[in-house]
Amino acid sequence: MYPLALRLAGRRVLVVGGGAVATRRMPALLAAGAVVDLVAPELTPALRAHADAGRLRWIPRRFQPDDVDGAWLVQTAVDDPAAAAQVSVAAQERRVFCVRADDRTAATAWTPAVTRQGPVTVAVLGGTPRRAVAVRDAITDLLERKGAAAGGPRSTGDRVGAAGVAGRVALVGAGPGDPELITVRGRRLLAEADVVVVDRLIPGLLLDELRPEVELVDASKIPYGPARAQEEINRILVDRALAGAWVVRLKGGDPYVFGRGGEELLACAAAGVPVTVVPGVSSAIAGPAAAGIPVTHRGVAHEFTVLSGHLAPDDAASLVDWPALARLRGTLVILMGLRNLAAIAAVLQAHGRPPGTPAAVIQEATTGEQRVVRSTLAAVAVDTAAAAIRPPALVVVGDVVEVSDALRETLARGR
Ligand code: SAH
Repeated sequence: MYPLALRLAGRRVLVVGGGAVATRRMPALLAAGAVVDLVAPELTPALRAHADAGRLRWIPRRFQPDDVDGAWLVQTAVDDPAAAAQVSVAAQERRVFCVRADDRTAATAWTPAVTRQGPVTVAVLGGTPRRAVAVRDAITDLLERKGAAAGGPRSTGDRVGAAGVAGRVALVGAGPGDPELITVRGRRLLAEADVVVVDRLIPGLLLDELRPEVELVDASKIPYGPARAQEEINRILVDRALAGAWVVRLKGGDPYVFGRGGEELLACAAAGVPVTVVPGVSSAIAGPAAAGIPVTHRGVAHEFTVLSGHLAPDDAASLVDWPALARLRGTLVILMGLRNLAAIAAVLQAHGRPPGTPAAVIQEATTGEQRVVRSTLAAVAVDTAAAAIRPPALVVVGDVVEVSDALRETLARGR
């Protein structure tokens, strides 16, 4: 085997077969920018969707040898060895490399098992496919643990600093609490970071994996009022990045859901620091889900509204239209609402939400400390206090809370 990488952008690739193998191979070919012609009498729904969207050209018939003409590469994705051999022969005669799904040893080209780590692709070839995948998985694990794949500032002299930049900031959503609920990209960037700035609500286990030399800044310990503290956080992000560091600003849930992510993004941009946002799984959706409550359910709720309850409903600074919310029939998810829960429940009832509307409070969702109180709008404040629920917790109001009983039983049976 002679390893080689192909630039397929704008080049014609012929795929023969419209089943499961072609479905699996297609995304990588399309991502490489290949101009794909797909010859097959029938297509899977996923391939059909690519064809309908114009991402490939479907030739709806059986293969003919001259289909290979003008192709740079052929991928056979048919089960029948005789049909595959026919494609292979046609490719051979025209000196076009041909990958065979049915029999790798008979092919003139192999597709490796790959892992993509940012800009780096690792390809594993040889042995049985199972062995190649096992080696690939081991390499993936290693790279994700070491964070070495992107050629981080540690590995080379490309750390610039002092306004020459090369530093950067990523605002990363850490998810709702369970350390496994960060995104793949978030986890990779975390592994590459030189500086990590965290809040109170960050899953502690994620920090366990940081290399010892990483500087960890606990933003919740900054000893000023909230406004000054935010300025201080912005300053730390900008200063470290301008000094050449790769900074991850790790935020609970999603950075843009009551997370002040926008302010931090603007501060970085204003200072000329490259900044990206990596979305996170928000507690607003994952929190209810962890308690078996779907935020929407067919025939029950066609909308869900996420709001902050940190200001009392009668606070002049509140931006929430409580009477309008009270008229909605769908699901309400209230973050930061524990302290004002009695007033919130009262104002919703006063403007028409029935007192018997199901409600639930979920504390520390998706963690080992998760607790759930089920109640009604009329009783939820009293029940929550009686159960000594403490932050972080969120409140769900709506008929979906009742759906959860059936869902929980089903989930329990599946365990
Ligand atoms: N950006 C975060 C929300 C920040 S506001 C996100 O997208 O999830 C902080 C509030 O979120 C908390 O006061 C609480 O209401 C809610 N919250 C965050 N994590 C939670 C969890 N694990 N369980 C319950 N509520 C949570």
